[in-house]
Amino acid sequence: MNSIVERLKEVRMSIESACQQCNRSPESVQLLAVSKTQPASAIQHLYAAGQRDFGENYLQEALLKQQQLTDLHDLTWHFIGPIQSNKTRDIAAHFTWVQSIDRKKIARRLSEQRPSHLPPLQVLIQVNIDDEASKSGVAAEQVSDLAAYIDDLPQLELRGLMTIPAADTDSDQQQASFTAMQRLFSGLTSQYSTVDTLSMGMSNDLAAAIAAGSTMVRVGTALFGKRER
Ligand SMILES: *Cc1c(COP(=O)(O)O)cnc(C)c1O
Repeated sequence: MNSIVERLKEVRMSIESACQQCNRSPESVQLLAVSKTQPASAIQHLYAAGQRDFGENYLQEALLKQQQLTDLHDLTWHFIGPIQSNKTRDIAAHFTWVQSIDRKKIARRLSEQRPSHLPPLQVLIQVNIDDEASKSGVAAEQVSDLAAYIDDLPQLELRGLMTIPAADTDSDQQQASFTAMQRLFSGLTSQYSTVDTLSMGMSNDLAAAIAAGSTMVRVGTALFGKRER
């Protein structure tokens, strides 16, 4: 399990060097550990090494791990997977962040179902920046409409944008997608004072995403090793 902690150090170093190359401060980029399919014990090891933010894609699996880890009080859970309507109640109750909002109906339900004793859910709009049929997320043109809708919901706080760019594109296409996201994000920050988060970059494209202004990278494989799914 030491190896997980070693990999955490390596990922933090990659973030630092990517920041150095574009004159950004390393503190301006948060690391989200994507722990889907990983056991609670792996989360415990990263926690012991100082990692606090964890991302999960599958609700039932996440709830189970949360139950196993209730003694770690200051963990912050992010839901980052596709959201079906029948899952919103549990997501609203058991997560601090939701990064994968892609339609009004889901936003409205999450706000209505967020327990009133909890602070508003911190949310990101997922953008399907490469217009892939297989991927969730709104088209770039729909961001401002959905943002205005979310901004009006009492139990949601709009924090920014999340994207998963197309997997096998050349670096020019990747760069174009990152730049398009950067532009969308910059537009939102000038409109909403709560917006400060651009969740972009994973194990394989972390440096390019940071160069394009990402403030949160979501890393699974580089921390935990290869997954089955
Ligand atoms: C799985 C996943 C990641 C992590 O991807 P890696 O390539 O394993 O780093 C990031 N974001 C989302 C939304 C994911 O589903």
